Formats: sequence, C-alpha cells, structure tokens
Amino acid sequence: MSVEAPDSLPRLATAEVIAVGSELLTPFRTDTNSLFLTARLNEIGVVVRRKSIVGDSPTDLAGAIGEALARVDLLVVCGGLGPTDDDLTRETVAEVLGRSLHEDSDILQQLRERFEARGWTMPENNRRQACVPDGAVVLENPRGTAPGLWLEAGGRVVVLLPGPPRELEPMFADLARGRLAERVSDERLYRRVVRVAGRGESHVEELAQPVYAAWRHGDPAIDTTILASPGSVELHLSTRVATAPEATIVLDRATAQLAVVLGDHVVSTDGRTLSEVVGDSLRRHGHRVAVGESCTGGLVSAALVDTPGSSRYVVAGFVAYSNETKRSVLGVGAALLAEHGAVSEPVALAMAEGARRAADVEIGVGVTGIAGPGGGTAEKPVGTVCIAVVAPDGGRTVRTLQLPGDRAMIRQMATRTTVDLLRRVLARMETHEAVRGD
Ligand code: AMP
Ligand code: MG
Repeated sequence: MSVEAPDSLPRLATAEVIAVGSELLTPFRTDTNSLFLTARLNEIGVVVRRKSIVGDSPTDLAGAIGEALARVDLLVVCGGLGPTDDDLTRETVAEVLGRSLHEDSDILQQLRERFEARGWTMPENNRRQACVPDGAVVLENPRGTAPGLWLEAGGRVVVLLPGPPRELEPMFADLARGRLAERVSDERLYRRVVRVAGRGESHVEELAQPVYAAWRHGDPAIDTTILASPGSVELHLSTRVATAPEATIVLDRATAQLAVVLGDHVVSTDGRTLSEVVGDSLRRHGHRVAVGESCTGGLVSAALVDTPGSSRYVVAGFVAYSNETKRSVLGVGAALLAEHGAVSEPVALAMAEGARRAADVEIGVGVTGIAGPGGGTAEKPVGTVCIAVVAPDGGRTVRTLQLPGDRAMIRQMATRTTVDLLRRVLARMETHEAVRGD
C-alpha cells in the first residue's frame, strides 16, 4: 500500500488512542492495543498525547472522539467494529464527523465469501460490518471479518481498527509502513535511558530538574520522564529530530549535563542495566567475583548472573543463612560473630573475604541484614543491612544501610544496593587506573 500525499496536507505529529469496549472497564481485560499502537506510532515519529478507554456507549464515545479531534492530528479508535449490537464505533464516528453510512458491496461480497468458504451462511447482523462512512478508505482485514477504516476530516485523520490484537497488529503495521508513513514528517522520536542508583526519585528529580527544565523549550525540545522502582530510578529522555546522528548529538549533550549533576549515581546512559554495567567492568579487567550472602538468600548472585556470559566472571555464590554456615563455609570467626552479631560491618566484610577465599577469586561481596518482620532490636531495627566488597588489591569497602519497607522490599533494595556498591568499587578502580595511566 503506497499513497502519494499532496504536500499541502498537514503532517501528522500527534496522536490519541481510544480503546472501545465495556470489557476493558472491568478487572478482567486489559487494553494492550494502545501499548502496541504507541510503540509503532513512536517509531514513525508520532507522539501519543493521550489514551483513553471508553465503554460500549455511543454518548461516551462521541464525547471522547470530539475532544480528541480538538487536540491531535491523528485519532486511532480500536474495538467496537464487530457485528453485534454493542459494537457502535462505525456509527458513532460517522455521526461525529457528519457522514452518512453506505453499504460497501465489495466488503459485503468478501464477508459472504468468508462465511461460504467455511460452509456457512452469513448471519444478517454481519452486514453491519459492510457499512462504511462516506469518504472512508477500507483497510482489509485478512484475519477477521471487521475491516478497518481510514477517514480524513478537516486536516485530521481518524483510523478505526478491529479490537482483537491479532487482527489489529498486522493491519496497523501495514498502515505505519504505507498510508500513514506518507503522512508523517521526516522527524522520528529518539529515546535515551539514564539509569540511576543510590538516590530516591525525589532526590534525583531535585538534582536533575534544573537541568531538564530548560530542555523542554530547547530546539529541538527534549522531554523527560522519571520512572522509579525500589532501589533504582530511570530518566527517559526523548526528542524528535530528522536523523539518528542528530539525535545522538542532542542526547549525548543532554546525558552529559545530567552526568555532571548526578555524578557517580549514574549507572549508565546507554540503556545498560546495573548487572550489565558491572559485568562489562568485570570482564574488561578480567576480574572474577564470589558472593557470600545471608538476608538476600541468593538474590545478589541471581542479579549478577542475569546477564548472559556472566559465567566468565561469576564464580560462586554462597547462601550462608545460619551462623554455623557463616563459620563453616565462609570462615567467619566465632568470636567476631559473638562480639559484633551476625548483622554487622565486620561480619559483612568477613563474609566477603570468606567468599573471595573459598572461590579463589579477586573480588568478594558480602551481605547480611535483618529483612523482618521479626528479629529487629532497638540498636539494629528491621531493615538494617550491612554490605561489603573486597577489591582485588584487598581494599575493603563496607556500608550499613537502613532500608524501609516490608521483607520483600528490604531484600530487593539490599540486593540492588549491594550490586551498586560493587559497581562503585569497580568504577573507582578504573578512575585510579586512569590516573596512574595503567
Ligand atoms: P471488538 O472489536 O470490540 O469486537 O473487540 C473484540 C475483542 O478484541 C474483545 O473481546 C477483546 O478481547 C479484544 N480487544 C478489544 N479491544 C482491545 C484492546 N484495547 N486491547 C486488547 N484487546 C482488545
Ligand atoms: Mg467490543
């Protein structure tokens, strides 16, 4: 499908998606179509400004369509094109746009043939699917009975798509390559993810906001969104420019500015995860690691082996939950345990050293803490976690954390913070090497 668009037609830059179906307003069905549509639209440089879900109500749908057309260039409506009484998208769109409906004989013929091929007679209510608003272009649906429709109205475009994802997806992918591609500008949406560790969302925002506030009005503008999960924050930058090299220049400059204010809290500016960054650093230096962990029960080892190829640098993970195992497997001294308690900086260090010795590797990591809900004391409340890293030169780094949340959250944050401490130790080694000129 390829259509020449006269240059006078406005380029489509912004879109809205309306998902139609009362089932999508129950706890039993999710609108996944809009995620697919947003991804494909972004690929061709169209920004999605708003998404909504409307039940099978012509009044609600008419209202939503009217509002959307006042806001954006392209409106995609999905669902409600079926043959049953509750499928009202065609009729409602025709009414809002002031178009009459006519029966399309080609569609009717194809519908009949579709049923006949299976030895059935077409039910009368399927005839509704052959109804087309005047001026609409019919989009074929090889996977179902409901054809899609493309309508132009006052410089805006309205696309109607069937609800089932297996029908909508190929139909829209076709459009995005053809008819729609002809109507968008050369600009594309480019994204960059900056991953941050060791600072909460509001703290990251406080540091970064003065930097990115100015980008919104820049040329080209850069939009920023913050995504937070326990122990990690992501800044997503996006910009609309004509070429990939241009995007690289713009986004490199932006991430460099962020790196200045966020400092060593920046894990990566190229989309790599924390585990990947640690893995790359270990591989580069030919260092191997072993973990001795207690309250995280193997999660730190699991995080390190998340990355394919990690067998080159992860040698062993020991879960030493009981004091007896801390002694027998990791060689933590009984006197040390008695004097400081299992959750203490000396024991975290001894666990890191024990793991390093037992696996005969360059780097050891230790974690011990109180994940709760029981086991806390006034001196060491639930959420107290000691983490340690022993470097190849024997250098020791140890931290005590006071983590918030329930057991699951404490274990998750302890895990991320431990892997992040390893990242920081490795980064520091690299800086020293650079200074020494190694
Ligand atoms: P319809 O075109 O309204 O007859 O939709 C048919 C079926 O497609 C529904 O029963 C859903 O299972 C599915 N569907 C409709 N809309 C969506 C959506 N936004 N996301 C995912 N599935 C959908
Ligand atoms: Mg429906």
